[in-house]
Amino acid sequence: MSDGFAGRTALVTGGTRGIGAAVAQAFARAGCRVTACGRKALDLPGVRVVAADVTDAASVSALVGSLERIDFVINCAGTIRRRDEYEMAAFTEVIQTNVDGTMRVCLAAKPRFPATGGAIVTIASMLSYFGAPHAPAYAASKAGVVQLTKSLAAAWAQDGIRVNAVAPGWIRTELTEAVRQDKQREAGILARTPMGRWGEPEEVAEAVLFLCSPAARFITGALLPVDGGYSSV
Ligand code: NDP
Repeated sequence: MSDGFAGRTALVTGGTRGIGAAVAQAFARAGCRVTACGRKALDLPGVRVVAADVTDAASVSALVGSLERIDFVINCAGTIRRRDEYEMAAFTEVIQTNVDGTMRVCLAAKPRFPATGGAIVTIASMLSYFGAPHAPAYAASKAGVVQLTKSLAAAWAQDGIRVNAVAPGWIRTELTEAVRQDKQREAGILARTPMGRWGEPEEVAEAVLFLCSPAARFITGALLPVDGGYSSV
C-alpha cells in the first residue's frame, strides 16, 4: 500500500496529536514529505510541524502558501465541547472548527494540487450516523462533514481529486480520555462495539492511507467506518 507515496507531499491538519499524528507519521513512513499543523506546534519525528488554526483564514493561507505542491490533504483538526454545545458560543466554535475549517483548508489547498490530481480525506464520526444528546454541535458538524465530502468529491472529480471520509469509532486519544475515565460509560461503549475494544489511532491512519493510495483509485465520495463494527449494529 506504500506505492504512490514516495516524494509526494501531504498536509495533515490536527496532525500534532491523536489520529492526526498517527496519520502524519504513517504518510511519512510511506515516503511522503509531511506538514502537520495544530494551534500549538509540537515536535513530531519525521514531520514538519507548523502552528496554524483552521478557523483563521490568514493562518490557513500562510500554512498552504508554505507548500509549493500538495498531493494529499487529511483534515484531522477537530474539536468537541459536549454539554457546553447547548451554549451558542461553543456550538459555533465546534461547527467553525469541524465544518468551516475543513472547507477552508480544502479550498486553500485545491490550487496546489498537480494537474494529475490527488486525494483528500476528511474525518467523520459515529455521530455522522447517530444523534448525540450530549454533543449536538459535534453531531451536526460530523453529519455536515459527510455531505461536504460527497459534494467536493462530485465537484472535483473532473480535476482528478478524490475526496473520501473515514468514520472512526471509539479511538484511544485525548479527545476520548474523559469517556475512558467514566468506567460505566466505557463499559457501555465496549459492550456495544462488536470487536469489544478501543480502536488505536494507527488503525484509522491505515484506512486513510488506503483511501489515498492507487488501490482506491476509483473510490470517491465514500464514507469508510473504522469502528470495530459499532455502526453495523
Ligand atoms: P485530539 O484532540 O487528540 O487531536 C485534535 C487535533 O486537532 C490536535 O492536533 C489539535 O491541536 C488539532 N486542532 C484542534 N482544533 C484545531 C484548530 N482550530 N486548528 C488546527 N488544529 C486544531 O483528537 P483526535 O485525534 O481524537 O481526533 C481527530 C479527529 O478525529 C477529529 O476530527 C475528531 O472529531 C475525529 N474523531 C475522533 C474520534 C475518537 O474516538 N478519538 C472518533 C471519531 C472522530 P491543537 O489543540 O494544538 O490545536
